[in-house]
Amino acid sequence: MSPSVHGGRAKCLQRLVRLDMPVPTTVALSFDAVRDIARGQMPDMDELIAPFGGAPLLSVRPSSQDPDWGGPSAILNIGMNDERHAALCAEIGEEAATAIYLRFIQSYAVQVARLDPEPFYLPDTPTLESVRVMLDAFEYETDEVFPQDPVQQLGEVLRSMARAWDGTTARLLRQAKGAPIDAGLGLVVQRIALGVGQGTSGSGVIQFVDEVTGERRIKGRYLSQSQGREALSAAKGALYLVQDGRGPSVEEELPELFAELVRFGELVRVRLREEMQIEFTIENGKLHILDGVRVQRSNRASVRIAVALAEDGIIPTDEAVMRVDPAVLSELLHRQVAPMTERDRIVRGIAASPGAAVGRIVFSANDAQASAARSEPCILVRRETTPEDIRGMHAANAVLTVRGGITSHAAVIGRGLGLPCVVGASDLVIDKKRRVMIAPDGREFAEGEVITVDGSSGDVLAGTATLEEPALDNAFQTLLKWADEYRDIGVRANADTPADAQTARNFLAQGIGLCRTEHMFFEGDRLGVMREMIFAHTSEDRRAVLERLLPMQRGDFIELFEIMQGKPVCIRLFDPPLHEFLPADKSGHRELAEQLSLPLSEVNARVEALSEYNPMLGMRGVRLGLTYPEIYDMQARAIFEATVEASRSGDPVVPEIMIPLVSAMREVELVKSRIDAVAGHVRAETGTNFTYRYGVMVETPRAALRAEDIVQYAAFLSFGTNDLTQMTYGLSRDDAGRFMSSYVNAHVYAEDPFHTLDIEGVGELLKIGAERGRLGRRDVVLSICGEHGGSRSAIDFCRRQGFDYVSCSPFRVPSARLSAAQLAISDARRNSMR
Ligand code: PEP
Ligand code: MG
Repeated sequence: MSPSVHGGRAKCLQRLVRLDMPVPTTVALSFDAVRDIARGQMPDMDELIAPFGGAPLLSVRPSSQDPDWGGPSAILNIGMNDERHAALCAEIGEEAATAIYLRFIQSYAVQVARLDPEPFYLPDTPTLESVRVMLDAFEYETDEVFPQDPVQQLGEVLRSMARAWDGTTARLLRQAKGAPIDAGLGLVVQRIALGVGQGTSGSGVIQFVDEVTGERRIKGRYLSQSQGREALSAAKGALYLVQDGRGPSVEEELPELFAELVRFGELVRVRLREEMQIEFTIENGKLHILDGVRVQRSNRASVRIAVALAEDGIIPTDEAVMRVDPAVLSELLHRQVAPMTERDRIVRGIAASPGAAVGRIVFSANDAQASAARSEPCILVRRETTPEDIRGMHAANAVLTVRGGITSHAAVIGRGLGLPCVVGASDLVIDKKRRVMIAPDGREFAEGEVITVDGSSGDVLAGTATLEEPALDNAFQTLLKWADEYRDIGVRANADTPADAQTARNFLAQGIGLCRTEHMFFEGDRLGVMREMIFAHTSEDRRAVLERLLPMQRGDFIELFEIMQGKPVCIRLFDPPLHEFLPADKSGHRELAEQLSLPLSEVNARVEALSEYNPMLGMRGVRLGLTYPEIYDMQARAIFEATVEASRSGDPVVPEIMIPLVSAMREVELVKSRIDAVAGHVRAETGTNFTYRYGVMVETPRAALRAEDIVQYAAFLSFGTNDLTQMTYGLSRDDAGRFMSSYVNAHVYAEDPFHTLDIEGVGELLKIGAERGRLGRRDVVLSICGEHGGSRSAIDFCRRQGFDYVSCSPFRVPSARLSAAQLAISDARRNSMR
């Protein structure tokens, strides 16, 4: 029997039987047999029913390949009819027997005959009269008497369950959980062990792990029915499973049966190599095991369970690594909305940075900072964020924007900071004047009102949702340690600040793959200096202003090198267009004029001069670096001076310097000669020798196509897939959020290409770039540093292309390490089967 023929439940029951567990007689129907039933071809019913002996009561349960794919509800007590009811009344008492009959009539009427449930609600007290009423209702609704023949009942049950599997809703639901289009359903027919009788009887479920925390402990429930109706009406027959002082327990009252259950539990864990929930009945003192299902578990528990199984030697470590969904790790690093919380959704946007936070609404970065100063958690709500908002983002507990996609400014910074973030909530309207945001249903939320942002689901909720704390426990660390033993591609982090670098270190990133230096220009009072630089008229003036930024930059780099303790740090020189450093509105321009002691007209003229129709394709990246070479000169000097300084206390630092937005070899050559010159000066001034590595960010299609000559000047190529996706599609990364969901819904794009690497198109450019890069320089180091770097599909692609490492937001490093390990293990398994 295999899960792909008879389903997981049937396979599990077969294994329980082989372990000599007291499983009642069971017959499994294969996927093919059930498909035949759905088409009206019934199996030989006499043959099917023969193993159960005379007058059995039966259950039928679904058995899909993966239990998570669901299936029709189980139907119990098939075979109940007037005659059996009368016999049972004598055996176990009228009330218990009647309750069983009523439940069967109800499930047959509603699930098999598909009648309206209302006439079949169960009465508080099961009486003979209520049986009569229900049977009459059945006859009234169907014009047929309730079937009394057990074989007919069973046939109808099988037919209805087989057909339910083919229903459209059921199919869509399971496909959403990853089931293939042709997923089959098996059915398991089992003799019922009722768990009622004159002697010790009852029914229950037991499991040996806490499904929320993942800790090993016995949990479950048990309903005792030994004393028949007295027990039921007196104490409702409830017994606790284990002694805990609250009342009588199975452990105390039935110690031998309890010990047997615990022994079975241990056996199942070891032999089925999984934490299972066991359904059992006790019938006149005899234990029956009816079913075993994998314990449903929280994210946190899934990690703990996998690690504990491996630590106990039940599964190997590679199996533990394979059992945890990498997405689960990202969730564990952040607070989450508790699963059972009621969600009063205001709006849904794009889930851009995981985790959840509660706070008061603020509509500006300044207000976010003021709120943080009062230690009042806040949510920064903006149409979109710009570099000017960065300090406000630092101060906020979460960010919500109306515009933008998965690689918009808010999303990138949010992920970098580990800040929950929902972007592109385009159904939300912000009324700046009245300081309210208006939900699609018309509700208004004013500044100061409390909301919850769930960056894992994209939901924005009214009020304070209950949050769960992150879970970075030992099991988490152990799992990642094992993952690293199997991983065969490097994982670095994109880290711009010392705080990012520290997070990257904590998550064991193997270096920094991308330090976006422009983010350093927004820190503290640097923005003001930067603006002075923008307003400088001559190269000399610019150089003078940049001199003031030099010590600050040097300090940044020293800190980064120290935190990374000899691990590689790849620093990208200045990239954005200059206008991003200037205020966007009139009042900002006035303030700036005041700050710089310039006439407003001059400020306006400069802003005007810098404005571009298409700034993302304009004077940014290396184009700016070549136009205003003083900027890269200052940055190179800061890097080299920091290199000398940081190398004094430890191993020599070898910085990596990377040039953004390259499209031509000559750009690379020109910048390199200037940087070499700066290196020469710093060596001479400090009397210290050092080396550095020079590389190119491949972000334009042309850079990928011309990689062979570009690598003549570059030791490494790092693919910036955010810009490369933008330029390959001709799709603005800041505006695509507006129509992306309708595009994806209409299957124009299979996925948002800023979220999931487009292997067919952008991937082709990566492949060409890597191949041509290697032609030009055999040992060129290849990596990816766009937001895709942390995703499983991109890691898979990069492994196959022989890339050296991926680089992603620090908070995605753990899941990237796990994904990379899983891909390596899968490959090794596939190869060993060849
Ligand atoms: C990229 O374009 O992929 C990239 C990493 O750079 P940025 O997101 O800073 O443009
Ligand atoms: Mg870029």
